Amino acid sequence: MACLPLALGNTRRHQLYYGLIYAVFPGPQRGLNFLESIMPIASFTPPVRTLMGPGPSDIHPRVLAALSKPTLGHLDPAFIGMMDEMKTLLQYAFQTKNEMTMPVSAPGSAGMECCFANLVEPGDTVIVCKNGVFGMRMLENVERCGGKAVVVEDEWGSPASPDKVADALKANPDTKIVAFVHAETATGARSDAQALTKLAHDHGALVIVDAVTSLGGIELKVDEWGIDAIYSGSQKCLSCTPGLSPVSFSAAAQDKIKNRKTKVQSWFLDQTLVMGYWGNGGGKRAYHHTAPINALYGLHEALVLLQDEGLENSWKRHALNHQALKAGLEAMGLELPVDPACRLPQLNVVKIPEGIDDGAVRTALLTEYSLEIGAGLGAGAGKVWRIGLMGHASSKKNVILCLTALDSVLTRMGAPIKSSVGAQAALAMYS
Ligand code: PLP
Repeated sequence: MACLPLALGNTRRHQLYYGLIYAVFPGPQRGLNFLESIMPIASFTPPVRTLMGPGPSDIHPRVLAALSKPTLGHLDPAFIGMMDEMKTLLQYAFQTKNEMTMPVSAPGSAGMECCFANLVEPGDTVIVCKNGVFGMRMLENVERCGGKAVVVEDEWGSPASPDKVADALKANPDTKIVAFVHAETATGARSDAQALTKLAHDHGALVIVDAVTSLGGIELKVDEWGIDAIYSGSQKCLSCTPGLSPVSFSAAAQDKIKNRKTKVQSWFLDQTLVMGYWGNGGGKRAYHHTAPINALYGLHEALVLLQDEGLENSWKRHALNHQALKAGLEAMGLELPVDPACRLPQLNVVKIPEGIDDGAVRTALLTEYSLEIGAGLGAGAGKVWRIGLMGHASSKKNVILCLTALDSVLTRMGAPIKSSVGAQAALAMYS
């Protein structure tokens, strides 16, 4: 029976399906259930959302348009030219002259693995700062690479403490690497990358820095601060689709890789092999893996946008929109628990008012306003929201939408907030 309608041609196919089903089954619901079970799956049409969670964030329309440009072969001279431009654009974003600067063909987690897999050799002592989810993942990477991890722990919501790192370096003079997260997406706290890098260098250690949420959103100067290895993600402050991880390695980091006694245990992430394709100091390019061609067009466009806006202007835009959102939230009586001295502008942690159901609010925002904000992670689950203002999503329009939507949903749910004042307070910050 199920084969019969499928065998019919496309012309008036749906009417024929309905006709047959209604003829055979009693009642429209059973007919529709049957229809669903035999219909081919249609193209996916996602709803249009405003993405103000911890990432992915809104994609710039020019990036989406770039993705649909004609695919080239991965060794096509035109594509190689684009790769060279991409390296220059990434060097600008990272503020570095490092030759070994390129995107890993995989998400931020792969950039993280790339840095640890290349730099940590079995037996190496690595100090890992753990003050949120992503520090914990760094620790996992050190252990999987056979390193000896020394954990420096700070409370969630606090930055990595330079004093504790200094003590750990004194207690472990053989430390080869210090690893920390610049912008902890789980908690909304910024660590002092410049101070931590200096400390590590004073003790002869290299640093690995997670800049997944910081690149493009807050000040980050790889060469000036002396950062040795850094990775980021395409989906946060770069206004790009998820799935690529820009990385950069200093000359000192490249030396450590060159002088390894053991092979990098991951063939795919071995930088010396990858650079045969991405080009290290010129020379012919060789196939390593089939690059995600169209995704790289997207990142190239995102970086052109960053270059055109200017890096410092992008940092300023993120700071201004944060100030406006904060003014609105505080006028409503909501609390931002992270210390302003280390608060990230691109990831705003907000305390959920007493008696308010976290999930119910986020569902209402999504269904009524097509607006996504993030839930708390780990220790913050059910207690805070994480409101992202990253990349293209860091805009006045989004700040006002978010405040208006939160105001209406929280007021309806009886939250102890001051209504109808948030958007006005935010607007005042722009004038
Ligand atoms: N590091 C940080 C600070 C992050 O916020 C994330 C993702 O949110 C990652 C690493 C992992 O990146 P991805 O999810 O792209 O693998």
